[in-house]
Amino acid sequence: MNVFDKTHNFITGTYKRFPVAFERGEGMYLYDDRGSEYLDFLAGIAVNVLGHSHKIIKEAIAYQSQRLIHVSNLYYIKEQADLAEYLIGHSVLDKVFFCNSGAEANESAIKLARLYGEGKRYKIITMEDSFHGRTLASLSATGQKKYHKGFEPMPAGFEYAKLDDFNDLKDKADDKTVAVIVEFIQGEGGINVADRDYMKKVYDFCKSRDMLFIADEVQTGGGRTGRFFAYEHFGIEPDIVTLAKSLGGGLPIGAMLAKDAAAKYFTHGTHGSTFGGSPFVSYVSLQTVKYIVESGLMKHAEEVGAYFLNKLKDIAKKSKDVESASGMGLILGLHMKDEEKATNLVAKALDNKILIGKAGGSTVRFEPPLIVEKEHVDIVIDFLDNEL
Ligand code: PLP
Repeated sequence: MNVFDKTHNFITGTYKRFPVAFERGEGMYLYDDRGSEYLDFLAGIAVNVLGHSHKIIKEAIAYQSQRLIHVSNLYYIKEQADLAEYLIGHSVLDKVFFCNSGAEANESAIKLARLYGEGKRYKIITMEDSFHGRTLASLSATGQKKYHKGFEPMPAGFEYAKLDDFNDLKDKADDKTVAVIVEFIQGEGGINVADRDYMKKVYDFCKSRDMLFIADEVQTGGGRTGRFFAYEHFGIEPDIVTLAKSLGGGLPIGAMLAKDAAAKYFTHGTHGSTFGGSPFVSYVSLQTVKYIVESGLMKHAEEVGAYFLNKLKDIAKKSKDVESASGMGLILGLHMKDEEKATNLVAKALDNKILIGKAGGSTVRFEPPLIVEKEHVDIVIDFLDNEL
């Protein structure tokens, strides 16, 4: 049986997969089992920040795999403590809780917000079209009904506000509201960049009501926007920030960072994770993050991203199939006139050995590794120019 048959026979049918199986990767390229080369502009959905088989990650894996992989959080873990120190040192937050995915990081933030409410306040406002994960609470926080279908009753206590509509958010908040969760750029929702003034108003509103401002930076965090945290672009200091995707350079890790005022509610026994912050993942993550911060990669991402966005905007102006282009750094989208056009474009790209994805129905998204060069962007732009 080949990989396709085995997958259909033995793996649950949760994913609609493209008919390709990759065997290896190098830099910006992936190679399938027939030796074909694909230009990767999706990076495993914003995960492979340093591309494939990067020296830093290979060496970190080789080193730590021979020392210590897992011990559990029953003991002190030097690699975890080092990673925490580095993340805290480069953020406005005070403490970290480590887990294994974006959904878990958000689940942790939701639990912490409930503790912060001390049994009196529990409601959390999130945005329409947001995406926060697939565990039941993070799914309930996700402002897209289509993902809730079949799983009702959803955990209670979430309300959905229209992005960039401050009055709507204000109307939905009451004396039971303890937090607001935002994405500065909605990723899965369609590369929707939030308005800066709106975010500032929401932040000030949270401060005035002692509500926690929680930033889901699972997709935007780790350098993708040209800063380590997207909040840096918005002039906001969130109370809680969640991270995952870029953080492990390809290995699974999630993190919830919180200011002390909230973090102090995570006391012994309130939360936990068997795998969270293992020596192995923490060591590889620290080397990845250090490289992102110290090698000039974020500035590079900002420059190449600006070049790319300009070209996407030119295409949006020229093509009747495209409404607009949006994004920041290397989280970019082309908003197509309808969903079918977006689906077809992604499929056509695959035929042309270019990996791109869809977001929010009719948006085509581009989230290449941060090591991408302008010459790679030109290849994708040539393809888009031909097709649109
Ligand atoms: N939050 C955001 C903003 C995301 O984009 C995602 C995944 O796409 C998640 C949370 C969930 O992360 P994970 O799939 O690692 O659970």
